[in-house]
Amino acid sequence: MHFEKGGKVIIILKPGALKEDADTILKKIKSEGLKPLYMPGTERTVIGAIGDERKLGKCHFENYPCVEKITQVLSPYKLVSREVHSGNTVVKIGKAKIGGKKIVVMAGPCAIESFDQMLATANIVKSAGAEVLRGGAFKPRTSPYAFQGLGLEGLKILKDVSRETGLPTITEVVEVADVETVSNYADAFQVGARNMQNFRLLKELGQARKPVVLKRGMAATLEDLLLAAEYIVAEGNPNVIFCERGIRTFETATRNTLDLAAVPHLKKKSHLPVIVDPSHGTGVRDYVAPMSAAAIACGADGVIVEVHVHPEAALSDGQQSLNAEEFSELMKKLRLFAAAAGREL
Ligand code: PEP
Ligand code: MN
Repeated sequence: MHFEKGGKVIIILKPGALKEDADTILKKIKSEGLKPLYMPGTERTVIGAIGDERKLGKCHFENYPCVEKITQVLSPYKLVSREVHSGNTVVKIGKAKIGGKKIVVMAGPCAIESFDQMLATANIVKSAGAEVLRGGAFKPRTSPYAFQGLGLEGLKILKDVSRETGLPTITEVVEVADVETVSNYADAFQVGARNMQNFRLLKELGQARKPVVLKRGMAATLEDLLLAAEYIVAEGNPNVIFCERGIRTFETATRNTLDLAAVPHLKKKSHLPVIVDPSHGTGVRDYVAPMSAAAIACGADGVIVEVHVHPEAALSDGQQSLNAEEFSELMKKLRLFAAAAGREL
């Protein structure tokens, strides 16, 4: 095989390949003067090499029986790239499958405020057809005087409500020190926009085994987002879901500018699922439904929507939260859009 200079060589082993098979290849890469990268995954082991890739041309790894595929990836991100994996990756949160035919709706309040508020909201979103319950216990607020979340108490409420309703949960993790605790209480991690490039946190989540919804930073390019996901996957956690939640522009009519072109772009460049957050993306309750429909139309695998049993009394983001009736209307409408997009909901 012939390799170009500057493109990363990625060797994908067949499912069931042994550690000894990988070791043989790693040794060979080293003997050619390159630095081998060993990335065991849940389904497949991937091996990379850093150095002058052209030297690997004469190794003929394509003839090794344990090798499924060898590719040279020219993009700066590798493991999240479609060049490495042409199919769509499906990530599971509880029983919900994100990235398959079915559109997955995640819904719940911005912040966990009390057991009663959480249970009432969970029942609303569950009966309307949401599959994952959201709710923040650690809230990264712009103002230090705004409600900061209930912390550990909030996580406990989230777990209790999950047990009661059977809904799997997602909640934001803000700090490396909280990763283990959050993973004991929730089914998926959310990395907030403000932490998208907290590389220590991303690496820690790469060591964790639960899925990660990675929200786009408000001033991050899509390449920044793809590379942030690469940090998590390169540490061994392949279960990453991208979330477009709007970026900062000169426009002030909406809270952020929801960049829906991000969806087809991420889908083209990566095999990972993509969801859209129309709540933070617009900051306006009335715009949540149209932008959710637009998200489905442009190929998103799901949406994450803020819902509150009493939006007028919410401790955070009430202005963009839907009430029970609005959420159930939204779900009805989204079913039609999902069907038109050849998806299910
Ligand atoms: C949230 O989803 O609760 C949140 C804070 O969103 P973002 O990180 O996108 O601002
Ligand atoms: Mn919010």
